[in-house]
Amino acid sequence: MLDQKNINTPSGGFGGKNVRRWFYLLFFVFLGMYLWNSSQRAEETTWGDFNANMLQQHDVDKLEIVNNEEVYVFIKPDKLSKEQYKPVSTNLIGRPHPGPHYHFRIGSVEVFNQQLQDAQQDFAPKDKVGVVYSKSENWLSGLLMWLVPLALLAFFWLYILRRVAGSAGTPGSSIFSFGKSKAVLFDKGNISPVTFEDVAGYEEAKTEIMEIVDFLKKPQHFTRLGAKIPKGVLLVGPSGTGKTLLAKAVAGEAGVPFFSLSGSEFVEMFVGVGASRVRDLFDQAKSKTPCIIFIDEIDTIGRVRGRAASFQVNDERESTLNQLLSEMDGFEPNTGVIVMAATNRADILDPALLRPGRFDRHIYLELPNRHEREAIFRVHLRPLTLDKNIDVEYLAGQTPGFSGADIANVCNEAALIAARSKKAAIGMADFHSAIDRVVGGLEKKTRIITPEEKKVISYHESGHAIVSWMLEHVDPLVKVSIIPRGKSLGSAWYLPEERHILSYSQLYEHLSVMLGGRAAEMLIFHETSSGALDDLEKATKQAYMMIGELGMSDKIAHISFHDSSGLREAQLYKPYSEETARLIDAEVRRLIADAFEQSTDILTSHLTRLHQLADLLLRKETLLQDDLELILGKRPGQNPEKTTKEALSGT
Ligand code: ADP
Ligand code: ZN
Repeated sequence: MLDQKNINTPSGGFGGKNVRRWFYLLFFVFLGMYLWNSSQRAEETTWGDFNANMLQQHDVDKLEIVNNEEVYVFIKPDKLSKEQYKPVSTNLIGRPHPGPHYHFRIGSVEVFNQQLQDAQQDFAPKDKVGVVYSKSENWLSGLLMWLVPLALLAFFWLYILRRVAGSAGTPGSSIFSFGKSKAVLFDKGNISPVTFEDVAGYEEAKTEIMEIVDFLKKPQHFTRLGAKIPKGVLLVGPSGTGKTLLAKAVAGEAGVPFFSLSGSEFVEMFVGVGASRVRDLFDQAKSKTPCIIFIDEIDTIGRVRGRAASFQVNDERESTLNQLLSEMDGFEPNTGVIVMAATNRADILDPALLRPGRFDRHIYLELPNRHEREAIFRVHLRPLTLDKNIDVEYLAGQTPGFSGADIANVCNEAALIAARSKKAAIGMADFHSAIDRVVGGLEKKTRIITPEEKKVISYHESGHAIVSWMLEHVDPLVKVSIIPRGKSLGSAWYLPEERHILSYSQLYEHLSVMLGGRAAEMLIFHETSSGALDDLEKATKQAYMMIGELGMSDKIAHISFHDSSGLREAQLYKPYSEETARLIDAEVRRLIADAFEQSTDILTSHLTRLHQLADLLLRKETLLQDDLELILGKRPGQNPEKTTKEALSGT
C-alpha cells in the first residue's frame, strides 16, 4: 500500500446548533440596537451654518448642551417641512423626527454662550432660544459596555452547561444528572426487537446462551432445585462479532428489559461519576427485574490493576470497578438481574471480575468462518431488493476475515451504491464495489496527484505486485490500483486463504511483499519516499513478532516473549536482558534486510516487466488478474482452482 502522510487535523466545531442560535440572536439584538440608535442620530453641522440658516431664521426650538462639549439642535416641528430640513425631518422608518436634528461640537461653554447671546441680540425675548444642559453618556456605548461582557458570560455559561448536559445525559437533560447512568433502556412495549433469528451462525454460543433465556423466563424451574442463576456472563470476541446483538437477542427472546451502557461512559469527564453511575444503573435495573444489564467494552473499567503502574492516574477507573464488583456481590443470586458484558480481550481483565459469582460464564465469539458468513449474509440480504443472480456462497468466499458488522456494512453499502445509480435491484457488481470499499475505503478520484507522484505510486504498487506474483507462499494477487482510496494512494488486493497456522516461509515472503513497494522505488528512483510508511510499519511489527514472539531466529530460537496477560505493558518490564534486547534488534534488522534484498533481487531480474506493469498501471489505473497475467505470465506454483477474478483484503 502506498501511504499518504496525513497532516491535517480535523477542525473542531464550536458548540452545537443551540449555541449558535444564541449567538445569532445576540448578534441581531445588537444589530437592531445599533440601527435604532443610528436612526435617532442628528446630522452634523457647524456654528456658522447653524447661526445663519437656523437660528437667524427663527427655526430653532431649543438647544441642549451635552457634557459641555456637544450642542444638540431641536428644530421647531412646524418648520421641519422646509426644504432644507428634508434630510432630518423623518427618521429611518418614516416617522416625524422628534430631534435632536443637528449637532455640533463646541470648545467651551462660556465662549458658546457668549456667541449665542451676541447672535440673538436683536431677537425679541419670546424668540430667544433656551438652552438646557445635560449630562449623558452615549446610551448605546453605555449599554454595550454592560451587555457585551454579560452576554459573553451568558454565552459561555450556556455553552458549558450544554457540554456538561450532553455528556451527562440525553441532550437537554438537567445538568444535575451527571451521576445518573445514561443506560439505554428497551422496556416493555419497546422490548428489544432482536431475536435469535437475527443472529446468524454461532450455534454453540446460542445454545449456551439459551440457558440464560430460560433462567429469565422461568426462574422457578431452577430455584426449585436449589440452583443458583448465574449473575454475570462475559462475551468475548473481536469487535463487530455480534456481542451486543447476542445480548439484545437474549433480552428479546426472554422478553425482559435491557439496559445497555458502554464501559467508556462510566469513566468520563468528571471524577467520581463512574461509581455513582454504576450504582444508579443497578438501582434502575433492580426496580425492573427480571432484566439484563449489558456493559459494552468492559475492559475500559475492568483492566488488570497494574501494581507498578500506579504512577498512572487511574483511581477513577478503580473506584468504578470496585463499585461494579460490590454491586454484583450485593444482589442476591436469584433476583433476576443478569449482567452481560462484552470485551475483545478477556486476558487483560482483572481476575477479580472473573471470580465465581461475578462474570463466571464466558462465551467466546470468533470471527465467522465461511459457512457462518454465508448465514450472516442471508440475514442481512433479507430486507434488500436483489437481482436474481446474487451468489451468496461466492460473497461469503470473498470476505474472509470480515466480522458480522463488516458484512452488515457491505450489504448496506451495496444497497447505497445501487440506489445511487438508480437501479431497480442490487446486483453482484454493487457487492463487489461495496466489498472493495469496506476493505479499502472510498475511492477518491478527485484527489489531485501530480504526474510525478503518480509515477512513483505506479512503480511502488507494481513492486508489490511483481514480488507477490513471483513468490510461492503468499496470497494470490487479484487486483492493483493507483486510484486513491481512503488514506492510501494506491493499493493491491490479495485473496487471503483462511489459515490458522502460518509457516516461516509464508511470513518471510509476506515480509518481502510488504517491502516490494519500497524496493521498486529504490531501484527506479534511487531514493526513499514517505509513501512506504504503512508498509514499513507493518513489516517492522511483523519482524519483531517473528523474532521476539514466534522464536523464528537461530540466535534466539524457540523462545517467546509474548505476553498474553497484558501485565508487562502496565509494568514497563522486559522479560529479557539488555544483551537479548540488542540481539532481538539485530535479528530484526537482519530479517528485514534479507527480505528487502529478496524483493530487490526479484525486481531486478524482472526489470522490463516492472517498467511494463508500471506503464500499464499508469494508463489504466486499475489492473485485474488478466492484465497481470498478460505481462507477468501465469503465476508460478499457482493453485489452478483459485482463479477468482476479484477479491479483497488490501495491502
Ligand atoms: P460487537 O458488540 O461485538 O462489537 P455488534 O453486536 O455491535 O458487535 O454487531 C454489529 C452489527 O453486526 C450487528 O448490529 C449486526 O448487524 C451485525 N452482526 C454481527 N454479527 C452478526 C451475526 N452473527 N448475525 C447477524 N448480524 C450480525
Ligand atoms: Zn505499499
